[in-house]
Amino acid sequence: KGERLRLPPWLKTEIPIGKNYNKLKNTLRDLNLHTVCEEARCPNIGECWGGGEHGTATATIMLMGDTCTRGCRFCSVKTARQPSPLDPDEPYNTAKAIAAWGLDYVVLTSVDRDDIADGGAEHFAKTVSNLKERKSQIMVECLTPDFRGDLAAVEKIAQSGLDVYAHNVETVRELQRHVRDPRANIDQSLNVLRHAKAVKPDILTKTSIMLGLGETDQQIYNTLTELREAGVDCLTLGQYMQPTKRHLKVEEYVTPERFVHWEEVGKEMGFVYTASGPLVRSSYKAGEFFLKNLLE
Ligand code: SF4
Ligand code: SF4
Repeated sequence: KGERLRLPPWLKTEIPIGKNYNKLKNTLRDLNLHTVCEEARCPNIGECWGGGEHGTATATIMLMGDTCTRGCRFCSVKTARQPSPLDPDEPYNTAKAIAAWGLDYVVLTSVDRDDIADGGAEHFAKTVSNLKERKSQIMVECLTPDFRGDLAAVEKIAQSGLDVYAHNVETVRELQRHVRDPRANIDQSLNVLRHAKAVKPDILTKTSIMLGLGETDQQIYNTLTELREAGVDCLTLGQYMQPTKRHLKVEEYVTPERFVHWEEVGKEMGFVYTASGPLVRSSYKAGEFFLKNLLE
């Protein structure tokens, strides 16, 4: 159990703030939305909310409460066997608030709710359909749990009217047991992604991998190959950061050059887009990437 690694200089740099940032920040207060961007103190908030060159403001909203039924070793979300019941008005109220907020691209995500029969799939799907009814031009990505492999749950969300179906495999095949809750595994996750695409071929599927957990280059390469074989369209790669002392240690700070390398590998493999960098998170400037790649 060696020393903690020192933070390298590329993780200490200031991140630019785009022009819409203050507008979104000021109008958020009365809407009662829980953004992951603020609650996780995400360093990309200035860029995501600011919108970048296409002016595509992106934010991530958390559904179904703040308490998860699982306990992954990289994640600092609270855990309980029986979190509070779902708020039946949430799909309606959240959709209404998001529609009023002025976003161009929204990521809806949630904790895992293994205590609920369908894992909350219906709740997710209702939020999307309510939102699209109010504001059809908003682009919606759902970043979902694995629903313990319940493909009917996946289908319900894939058919809800969303644009992007995201589910994170989190790490390479070899480190799944070490990093994720034992109820998760890569084959189950690949099935989720494969099924979303199969039932709705015109949506994009997307996944995310953290680097710096001790994976080898060959393991990364093999996992990317498996993702492409499962028809996954979009890929993000970012540095794992240890949220508290009780969580997995960072084994390596991967250099920006290596992240560029993986971005090139992703492109060569045929992903529609690959976002790769030390601070890239699953939803990092998702709207920007979406537009840029679809317009090209
Ligand atoms: Fe965190 Fe998701 Fe794992 Fe729950 S399932 S502990 S929210 S990463
Ligand atoms: Fe929010 Fe995700 Fe962007 Fe971070 S990367 S600011 S969580 S949308």
